[in-house]
Formats: sequence, structure tokens, C-alpha cells
Amino acid sequence: MADVLVVAEAAEGKLKKTTHSAVTFAKAAAAALGGSYSILVIGDALGGAVAEAAALGAAKVIVAEDASLKDYVAERYAPTVAAVGKGFAVVVGTASAFGKDLLPRVAAKLGAGYAGDISELLIGGGKLQYKRPMYAGNAYGIASIPTAVQVVSVRQSAFAPSEPGDATAATEKVAIVAPSAGAARIEFVSFNQVKSERPELTEARVVVAGGRALKESFGKLLDPLADLLGAAVGASRAACDAGYCGSELQVGQTGKVVAPSLYIAIGISGAIQHLAGMKSSKVIVAINKDADAPIFQVADYGLVADLFQVVPDLVTQIRAAKA
Ligand SMILES: Cc1cc2nc3c(=O)[nH]c(=O)nc-3n(C[C@H](O)[C@H](O)[C@H](O)COP(=O)(O)OP(=O)(O)OC[C@H]3O[C@@H](n4cnc5c(N)ncnc54)[C@H](O)[C@@H]3O)c2cc1C
Repeated sequence: MADVLVVAEAAEGKLKKTTHSAVTFAKAAAAALGGSYSILVIGDALGGAVAEAAALGAAKVIVAEDASLKDYVAERYAPTVAAVGKGFAVVVGTASAFGKDLLPRVAAKLGAGYAGDISELLIGGGKLQYKRPMYAGNAYGIASIPTAVQVVSVRQSAFAPSEPGDATAATEKVAIVAPSAGAARIEFVSFNQVKSERPELTEARVVVAGGRALKESFGKLLDPLADLLGAAVGASRAACDAGYCGSELQVGQTGKVVAPSLYIAIGISGAIQHLAGMKSSKVIVAINKDADAPIFQVADYGLVADLFQVVPDLVTQIRAAKA
């Protein structure tokens, strides 16, 4: 076995961009193993997601479509993913909420070793090795997996998304595998998605992030700046915990990991747990009134100032420049 299977993430008939990062990994892993990669698209009413997957350079797109998979529940998806994955050397997905939930279950079903949230693929002695950030990114571990099938999830920000090409892969439909009697009793109740006109936090080119210091003015101060920059809004955990913004905005070790071209940290101290989620950003700008705040150690540009004065000023200046 030398082939790689990408478990795609689809929603509302579209492929989620997270899938493109797993494809980048799959290309490299398949090349190292001398095999090819296929993409499994699983769910219901997959619509254009299959065609999108077919344009990503895979040898084959495997389609598992069934009404019972309408709403994502790991226990219902895992048996089919494991059955398809059996024939592959590596099963990979992105370490999104979907991948982190589904892939360990798939690994357990396959009796496979699992390496989660990997940031780099290394080839050692013809074998795949996986670099994994640990201790909030302060150390790295190198893992190798001795089982016949290996299951991994990749950190989206560490693998540049694959671009679609002109070739179209062949598609193959597979029957779904019913969950066990116990798992079948799990019922989907609801999915409360926070809808936003802004780009997704993990995919945005620019992120404007705020900390506890913004208090109740969090949205009032950050939204105009984010809108002007076409940015996503992020937050420290302290800001989320205080209720100044939704928890879906949290960046960091226990939040989302982002690596945008520009990350503007406003009133964020720069605790290691926050840095773990954003320090790979290409350019980091920090605004903080404390010149000794740790955020300045990772910032490319720093402004020691009161955010309540500087942020509205910045908005006025950008508006004027754009007029
Ligand atoms: C297991 C664990 C996991 C964690 N996971 C995360 C995580 O995923 N993400 C995360 O962010 N944190 C996480 N934390 C929490 C983390 O340790 C910090 O407590 C948190 O990041 C602090 O948030 P903050 O910088 O907004 O708040 P604070 O530490 O209170 O810092 C506020 C900053 O604002 C500045 N400031 C105050 N007023 C102004 C002003 N008027 N103008 C300009 N600057 C001002 C201050 O100088 C200060 O630097 C985790 C902690 C633990 C223990």
C-alpha cells in the first residue's frame, strides 16, 4: 500500500477550503511513497463538492452520499471512512473541528496509529515522519506510525492550499457502512452556526484580533477596522471568556490556529497560549499600552499606545486614504 486518502470536508454542496490543505499534504506523501492520492467526499446532497474535489489532481474521487449523512455526526461518518480507508497507506484530513472529531474515531476503527495536528511532513529513510507542535508550540515532536494504515490530521495554516487544475479525476460511488446499533441511536439535534459576512478566521488574509482590554467596546472598535481591511475578527481567550465576543473568535492553543498575511493584535498581552495560534502569521502588528507586553517579542511592528485612541484614529486615516 502506497496510496493516500484525503477525507474531504463538504458543507452545503461545496468543498470546504480546509480540504485543500490536506490535499497538499497528500501530494507530498503520495510522491514520497511512490503512490497516488484519492479524495473521499462524504455526506448528503454533495452537489458541486464532488466536481470541486475532482479538479484537485487526485487519481480518483470516491463518493459516499446518503440521506443518513445529511447532518454531520462522527459516529455515522466514521464506519464508512474507515471502510474506504482500509485500502490506503495514509488517511489524512485537516485538523479542523470536523477532522479533529472524526479522524481519531477512524483511526480507532482501523486499529491505526494517529498523529494529530501535524505541521510538517518529513521523509526519513523512505518512511513518513510527522512534525507536531507541542506545549503551545514551544516544542516539536517527531512521530512515525508503525501500523499498516496511518491516520493523520494536518494543521491548515502549515500547508498551503492546493489549487484546482484542468484535469478531472474519475469518480467512484461507494455504499455507506451503517453505524453500530449503539452509534445509530445518536441523534443529530442542531447545528448553531454563527453566520458572518466576513472571511472565515482560518482562511482570512488579514485578521484583526482584540483582547480583554477592549471590554464592551470590542465590536464597536474592531468591526469598522475589520470591514475596512476586509479582515476576519479574532480574539484572545480572555476576551471570549469575559463575553465581549463569541467564543468562535478565539485564537490560540485552545482556539483556532491562523497564519494570515497580516495579524493585528489589539490589547492582547501575548500569552504563550495565544501566540500558539498566531505566531506563524507573516506580518504581526501589535498595539498595546504596556511596552513590556510579550506580544512585542513576536511583533514585526509595535505601537505602544492606548487602543481607545489609536483604533478610531486608524479607522479615520484608512477611510480618508481610501476616499
Ligand atoms: C490551558 C490554557 C489554554 C489557553 N488557551 C488560550 C487560547 O487558545 N487563546 C488565548 O488567547 N488565551 C488562552 N489562554 C489564556 C492565556 O493564558 C491568557 O490569559 C490570555 O491570552 C490573555 O488574554 P488578553 O491578552 O486579552 O488579556 P490580558 O492578559 O488581560 O492582557 C490585556 C492586555 O491589554 C493591554 N491593555 C490594557 N488596556 C489597554 C489599552 N487601553 N490600550 C492598549 N493596550 C491595553 C494590557 O497591557 C495587556 O497586555 C489559555 C490558558 C490556559 C491555561
